[in-house]
Amino acid sequence: MKISDIVKKQKEFYNSNVTKNVDYRIKTLKKLKESIIKNQDKISMALKKDLNKSEFESYMSEIGVVLSELNYTLKNIKKWSKTRRIKSAFTQFPAKCYSIPESYGVVLIMATWNYPFLLCIEPLISAIAAGNCAVIKTSRFANATSEIIIDIVIETFSSQHVAVIKGGIEECNQLLNEKFDYIFFTGSYEVGKIVMEKASKNLTPVTLELGGKSPCIVDDTANLELAAKRIVFGKILNAGQTCVAPDYLLVNSKIKQELIKNIKKYIKIFLGDNAINNPDYPNIINLNHVLRLQNLIKNESIIFGGKVDKKRLKIEPTLLDKVKLDSPVMSEEIFGPILPIISYKKIDEVINIVKHYEKPLALYLFTNSKQNEEKILNELSFGGGCVNDTIMHLASTYLQFGGVGGSGMGSYHGKNGFDTFTHYKSVLKQSNIIDLPIRYHKYTDKKLKFIKKVLK
Ligand code: NAD
Repeated sequence: MKISDIVKKQKEFYNSNVTKNVDYRIKTLKKLKESIIKNQDKISMALKKDLNKSEFESYMSEIGVVLSELNYTLKNIKKWSKTRRIKSAFTQFPAKCYSIPESYGVVLIMATWNYPFLLCIEPLISAIAAGNCAVIKTSRFANATSEIIIDIVIETFSSQHVAVIKGGIEECNQLLNEKFDYIFFTGSYEVGKIVMEKASKNLTPVTLELGGKSPCIVDDTANLELAAKRIVFGKILNAGQTCVAPDYLLVNSKIKQELIKNIKKYIKIFLGDNAINNPDYPNIINLNHVLRLQNLIKNESIIFGGKVDKKRLKIEPTLLDKVKLDSPVMSEEIFGPILPIISYKKIDEVINIVKHYEKPLALYLFTNSKQNEEKILNELSFGGGCVNDTIMHLASTYLQFGGVGGSGMGSYHGKNGFDTFTHYKSVLKQSNIIDLPIRYHKYTDKKLKFIKKVLK
């Protein structure tokens, strides 16, 4: 079916009001849950094929997160979908006010390849829970996962309710030329701008889940052993192809060598002496990205790792020392297992370096200093982050997840996801029994005196 026909059919279906029924949404979400549970092994196998993710990593960072989001949504959907009574202003007496959650209509969800299952299905759960129809655009680079997503969606939903489009830029452009009621985009800063520009033609609201250079700061009061362990966890997860991976390290010069020693130790503990041969170490998505990453390290001072296996699309966790701020590796989001290390003497230097870039999606600070913690949290803007950890802030249905400035706009996860795909319609219901005369002509001095008393 042509993309324009798919969207047309979805609009017709949406206008039939079927998805406005909360029980219908619950029924389809339960079916989605059953299908995911039934297809768990196939999803894992697809993620193994696309990115060599281990079964553990696939469950921890994709399947398990989706199931937990589904369960949380199913538990709360009735509460979230209710019309809420809102306090009326004194001047509105005797009217009653309400906030009615209303779905947008037909929404477009565009995802990328690094968490190809999670990034399609998690926003889909919120979109469906809120009562929308959805077209999902999967990434063409994660083909095996796209196929299983198609199977699950066909098994669960009618195509008028949810449809999946595979493909690349051409399909994206066709989709973006359609008039959607909401666009939820996950991807890069550059394509985010294209999406927003196209959406603006129809004044379509957008959520942009982008990336950027997320700093990891370690000061001289930090617990270095734990810091190293958690930094390595965050950097080798999906071989660094994580939007919130620590991109570069800013370390106090006094503890730099000790931290590096611990980081090397934990890379070896986690992945062994030859990470490339570790069967649970993910590969880079394709040769283009391997070559891009190889290019980023070629003129740098490599103090650990550096091996590249083009055949198996693998790159060792690699540490770069004495990195210059104007070097290529500091000029773009790395999105791979490479960690540039930059030392600082005073915390103000850190502030200046981070501010030099677009506002990051994540920021990590390792410290035991209350003063440094307050300074960093107060003076730097970022989507979200952790003190004394990495990545874990997004493993929660309670914390909203999203970027700010160059790392995106809008958020999701849990209730925030439901809110993202919901328009809250404000309604005032007036009484037909009482009709206060004050607001009507003629505007006398007495009325003015009265209004000045009540409206201030
Ligand atoms: P990308 O922007 O190239 O691709 C994302 C989507 O846009 C894909 O579906 C792709 O087909 C489409 N696309 C690509 N070029 C297009 C064009 N010219 N016109 C229209 N559509 C186009 O993203 P990527 O490079 O594949 O993914 C990596 C980026 O995504 C990183 O910046 C990463 O940080 C970010 N990301 C963010 C999150 C998040 O939740 N914030 C999650 C994962 C990845």
